[in-house]
Amino acid sequence: MGRYIKKIEVEKFQDILDRTHNALIISHLNPDGDAVGSSMAMYNYLDGLGINCSVVLPSSYPDYLGFLDNKNPIKIFTKDSKAILDIINSADLVIALDFNQLKRVDELETHIANSSATKVLIDHHPFPVRESFDLVISNTEVSSTCELLFWLFNLMQEPEKEVVESSNVLLDCGVRFNLSLDIAEPLYVGMMTDTNNFANSVSSDTLLMASRLIDLGVDKEKLQNLVFGGFSENRMRLMGHMLLNRMVVLEKYNAGFILFSKEDQERFNYNVGDSEGFVNLPLNIQGVFLSALFTEKEGEIRVSLRSTNDFSVNKFSKLHFNGGGHERAAGGRLNIKFDEVADYFEKALEQSYQNCICDNLCKDNLKSE
Ligand code: 5GP
Ligand code: MN
Repeated sequence: MGRYIKKIEVEKFQDILDRTHNALIISHLNPDGDAVGSSMAMYNYLDGLGINCSVVLPSSYPDYLGFLDNKNPIKIFTKDSKAILDIINSADLVIALDFNQLKRVDELETHIANSSATKVLIDHHPFPVRESFDLVISNTEVSSTCELLFWLFNLMQEPEKEVVESSNVLLDCGVRFNLSLDIAEPLYVGMMTDTNNFANSVSSDTLLMASRLIDLGVDKEKLQNLVFGGFSENRMRLMGHMLLNRMVVLEKYNAGFILFSKEDQERFNYNVGDSEGFVNLPLNIQGVFLSALFTEKEGEIRVSLRSTNDFSVNKFSKLHFNGGGHERAAGGRLNIKFDEVADYFEKALEQSYQNCICDNLCKDNLKSE
């Protein structure tokens, strides 16, 4: 159940906050809605408690998430490394959000590892590296780090006292909590993006969270439009091009993949975030349960993987793509030539399906545990 967190962890976190003067919030490379949403929700929460606080991300976030950074607290390491090193040095608390190992903060890794600050990890990925942190609040059953924060913030609040003046007063039988809109909105965004707009990893608790956030004043249509409806014309044409010319379906493996070359990025004037969601597109095809997006970058190829059955893309990524993630959503990188990617992917699939005991991607060694 997503909404259960150990009492001792909540108390320890509260205790750490009570002793904190300068907090630093960090999240992962290529930050997504959950990374930016959880960072901003935590920033606004700590700000509300009067704790001095900074947010540092290893690389830029996509433009469509810019509205969450309206007070501009987010600093990007690749753009502002000198000022950020000073911030790290003066932090007495580091809160790491939405990743399970320090490797995911890229060039920030050694600076964070060497910092003497108390380190807290709050995350929903499997197998967190606990040794790197003083406190780990980890739950893989929630949809997103934002959902985990939502339950954590609620547990840290005193429930509103019911003042019953007459026996005719209507009692609210829901969960009673209160969060300001500048916390509720980013939480909703992180949950909405990590579930691919309520399509994956949604439990009854996730919907309860969404419901309470709407009660607290979140305008779901506004956020829906800002996140999923604010794309450029270039991005829509790029998507058409990818579907028509760059998507390959491998019926034999119930898989599909998209190759996104540098040439195509230039042709469609690519900006960070323009390919958001592309990895899910092949999954709309009947019979496709596994999909991949390969993006050619400077010196490496970014890999995104998704599955809709019990095929563990987390393990698949660890085995073949130098990465990891969740059971049904993972990522990694490759250091091969871009024109070798299609062959490499097919061989990786072949290897994973040898001795396959059933016909829909459920090779034993890649099943989730
Ligand atoms: P995406 O495909 O959206 O970039 O990533 C999907 C999931 O895999 C996210 O939860 C992300 O944190 C994780 N992920 C992406 N890239 C990597 C990587 O290089 N290493 C690991 N360990 N996880 C990754
Ligand atoms: Mn996440």
